[in-house]
Amino acid sequence: MGFSSRSGLWVKGNLHTHSTNSDGRLTAEQVAELYYANGYGLLSITDHEKLTKFSTDKLVIVPGFETSVKGTRLNYDYHVVLLNVEDVDHVQKLRNCIEELLDFTFESGGLAFIAHPYWSSLTLEDLISLENYLGVEVYNTGCDVECAKGFSMVHWDGVLVTGKPIYGLAVDDAHRYLTPPIDALGGWICVKTDVPSIEGILYGLEKGLFYSSMGPMVEEFSYKPGVIEVRFTPVRRIDVVSENGVGLSISLDTYEYFRKFLSTSEGKMMMEGFEAEFNVENGVENAYLNAGSFKLTLRKTEDGLTTLKLEKYSLKKYFRIELTDSKGRKAWLNPIMV
Ligand SMILES: [Zn+2]
Ligand SMILES: [Zn+2]
Repeated sequence: MGFSSRSGLWVKGNLHTHSTNSDGRLTAEQVAELYYANGYGLLSITDHEKLTKFSTDKLVIVPGFETSVKGTRLNYDYHVVLLNVEDVDHVQKLRNCIEELLDFTFESGGLAFIAHPYWSSLTLEDLISLENYLGVEVYNTGCDVECAKGFSMVHWDGVLVTGKPIYGLAVDDAHRYLTPPIDALGGWICVKTDVPSIEGILYGLEKGLFYSSMGPMVEEFSYKPGVIEVRFTPVRRIDVVSENGVGLSISLDTYEYFRKFLSTSEGKMMMEGFEAEFNVENGVENAYLNAGSFKLTLRKTEDGLTTLKLEKYSLKKYFRIELTDSKGRKAWLNPIMV
């Protein structure tokens, strides 16, 4: 199981954004131009309760819209992004029942994901009983810059721990675009597809062949029972998130601590069953730590950590990898159920 950014076509995309057709400040054409000019190959213009019909040769445009649905435990609304669903009129009749809306979307060949769970004050009960949805927005730029409710990792993990393999999506949900606080170009997905078409993108999304990011790029990922390997652009923190207290977090500070206290002039040390080895090759530092219950291999350049190999570590139910760079920007790989 795994992927390499060197094989296949990887497309950068934003699946949640608004135009002047609802409450966005740019026209659909201006939105598409902005994303195209910034290296995106995929966009969904998801106006509120309206399908904005737009196409261009420059980007794959997946038709979609955002709908709000009554009935959360705290009497707020779910906001749901629907992709490849065009029957807005029928969806309007389902806005009192999230289950019916998700079933309809699934049965009509569309994909649904739950927008900004933190911003919507969703409880875990609101999410764990649902079926037929792709995942949740783990990051929403607009919710982050406007009211500091952009991150929804707790909601994501709260569902994953029940054994349901939902994905995490980073999106912009842009309305203001280039008017401060800027809510565009802050969160995106990179999806693997064989063909840059709507069908190719939907297939990649459905199969979870994507990761989400605010900055760090994931170059390789592989998993076989007992061994996780990930390679990425430099970060200051690597998190392996799993059930309850199971998991691991390695920051640059922790790394430096180990290097300072465990390495000797020979670059090796054994201490109470803890073995550590550090060496430098062509400016790249390699660290190997064996704690008995797990083995960890890390690589570090002057810009940060770039590789994680974790062996023998016992993970429960699921794990997912989360990265954070020196500017606090994160990337999230989709979960693996174990
Ligand atoms: Zn919304
Ligand atoms: Zn929105």
